[in-house]
Amino acid sequence: MAFRLFGVPLRLHFTFVLLLVFLIVVGLGGEQSALMSVLYLAALFGSVLLHELAHSLMSRHLGIKTLEIVMFPIGGVARLERNPKPREEFWISLMGPFANLLIAALVFGWLYAHGALVNLEDLIKPTDANLLERIAVGNLALAAFNLLPAFPMDGGRILRSVLAEHMAQERASQIAARAGRFLAFLMGLYGLLSMHFLVVFVAFFVYLGAAQESAAAAGRALTQGIPVRDAMVRRFHTLSHANTIGDAARLLLETSQQDFPIVHGGQVTGLLSRTGLLRAMAIEGSEAYVAGAMERDFPRLDPDMDLSEILPRMAHAGACALVMDGENLVGLLTAENLSEYLLLRRFGMTPSSTRSS
Ligand SMILES: [Zn+2]
Repeated sequence: MAFRLFGVPLRLHFTFVLLLVFLIVVGLGGEQSALMSVLYLAALFGSVLLHELAHSLMSRHLGIKTLEIVMFPIGGVARLERNPKPREEFWISLMGPFANLLIAALVFGWLYAHGALVNLEDLIKPTDANLLERIAVGNLALAAFNLLPAFPMDGGRILRSVLAEHMAQERASQIAARAGRFLAFLMGLYGLLSMHFLVVFVAFFVYLGAAQESAAAAGRALTQGIPVRDAMVRRFHTLSHANTIGDAARLLLETSQQDFPIVHGGQVTGLLSRTGLLRAMAIEGSEAYVAGAMERDFPRLDPDMDLSEILPRMAHAGACALVMDGENLVGLLTAENLSEYLLLRRFGMTPSSTRSS
């Protein structure tokens, strides 16, 4: 499920899991009409969107483009064009929960002004009359949950950014991740003992999210100060405009390469991805030329770019970018290659740039 809002591609955030729990526990059923149930769902869904949008607008304000906001089964991540510096991360993370607090304050204020506030205990029984107040409380819950000082919640990022003022970023990240695992453990234990299995379910997602953040931080630490050229694939096949989809398919089978740069007259004109190849094969058949199926607006990297800066961009399976020194194609960087590089670095391989200099 993907949308575009203010030019930012959006997918569902991980707090959606919390939202589900919240809906099941307090939101649905009771004495409310079907229409109000739908309105309630739509309002909370809209609140999550505004939360995400607040993150992206703040990062845009700081000059960082949001590539997309993804709702993985294991948690939501705003994939930014580059990793924010601690101070930037602080403001970007704060804006999401702030949006929910603002919504809650506005709705509570309106209810108060109209003398329509009811006791919180009465919200347990959803009715049409207390719909607005339940939306306000839902936003408070979203804000509170996201402000927990543990990965993968926004509060974990805030904690990391504050800690990073006093220590190395990696250590700050590991502390926030450990807090996340600890929180997940407590939630899981509570859920099991109290037989609230939805809590166990949420705990599971929090645990996975924390583990993922900790891996990302370790990856960042391993690649800091290392240029892209160190991790790129140097031996690869290229195709020309004379090649057909059939030729590309043969290379896909015979080699381990999945993405093919298309070179024409010494110039790189596009990139044929595995997906593009398969799609063209299915629609146009193997006789079609590669030029019709290639991506002309392909991702490109400078060989001297810092590897840690571009990790977020390469963080999805199948990602591939061309490494271009000016107009010269010097290498390929793929997600698979990068993860192998990280693995080797973890086992002690030294970067070639430090070895040669
Ligand atoms: Zn958030």
